[in-house]
Amino acid sequence: MQAAVMRAEHAPLEIEDVKIDRPGPHEVLTRTVASGICHSDLHVIEGGIPMPVPCVLGHEPAGIVEEVGSEVRDFQKGDHVIGCLNAWCGSCEFCLRGQPYLCMPDIIRRPEGEPPRLSRDGESIMPFGGLASFAEYMLTHERALVKIRDDIPLDRAALIGCGVTTGLGAALRTARVEPGSSVAIIGCGGVGLSALQGSRIAGAGRIVAVDNQAWKLELARDMGATDAVDASEGNPVEQVQELLGGGVDYAFECIGLRPTIQQAVAMLKKGGAALLVGVLPGDPDGGAPGRRHHAAGEAGARLVHGLEPLPHRHAALRGLLPRRPAQARRDDLTTDPPRGGQSGARRDAQGRGGALRDRLRALSPRSCLQAGARACQ
Ligand SMILES: [Zn+2]
Ligand SMILES: [Zn+2]
Repeated sequence: MQAAVMRAEHAPLEIEDVKIDRPGPHEVLTRTVASGICHSDLHVIEGGIPMPVPCVLGHEPAGIVEEVGSEVRDFQKGDHVIGCLNAWCGSCEFCLRGQPYLCMPDIIRRPEGEPPRLSRDGESIMPFGGLASFAEYMLTHERALVKIRDDIPLDRAALIGCGVTTGLGAALRTARVEPGSSVAIIGCGGVGLSALQGSRIAGAGRIVAVDNQAWKLELARDMGATDAVDASEGNPVEQVQELLGGGVDYAFECIGLRPTIQQAVAMLKKGGAALLVGVLPGDPDGGAPGRRHHAAGEAGARLVHGLEPLPHRHAALRGLLPRRPAQARRDDLTTDPPRGGQSGARRDAQGRGGALRDRLRALSPRSCLQAGARACQ
């Protein structure tokens, strides 16, 4: 099969013919139909999240099961599935106390000594997060997949695997936003708008969207924000405090920047809570490595799959899907290699992030190459 392979940081992904193994007893081979492009993929390309190479990125997939291993009982050929970073083991401390999203089990990898899931000419290629969706097929552990209904469009369902789950989980499970409470969403990309939706579903009284791009604020209002603060028009902390006559009960930082993390804390009212949802990549000044923040961010997602299978939550699932499909901007993707700090994301003239969250439908490795080179928030 073809896959977009990352062979070095700060370099374009390479389209390569990659060998994918047959499913082991608890593994599933899935044909990739759509994959979201998460900013974490971009962080890996930029070196903010250290990752051994060669590897195949992509961790927000949806697809159709092609073949299952001999011990797999929950999936069969033809099932529609989404993939999730948060595979679970079912027996560790976290799984047993109902927090399988914190599990991070070894089962996402094959044991030492077994043939690699992905390889080329005998060289092992690491599947990122045990998923590797920038490829025509994925070979995963069965517990990295969740079955979904056949009538859910796969290009939208793919977003649930990381972005939607992370934002929604932060609002509904981590913060447990109460009805009537006040919320600020800092950064209205895919994750931020999902935290916004979670706050709306929870019945928050005031939801203040904070971003520096007008079109994202407009979209946030469309999706349930009661107020919008344009951070390019002055201090967002002061603007939020002025709007609410004080701070907010919950501030969700959904970007992963030190200044906005400080803003999230500063805009709280007494007793409020700041939720650090964005992945803060490691920095050369000795800042915490991306991995730890990654764990706090994406693994903090609490829309549990596995022990509480998503298929049992169809009603909720419908509510999660964007009211208006996120803009897919495939026409803006190019094969330009990433450059410096501005690498993947499509930027406007001021160098700010452009697309809400890109998805690739009818995935081809070529489009993944392009996506990897110009990944978007
Ligand atoms: Zn992600
Ligand atoms: Zn576990």
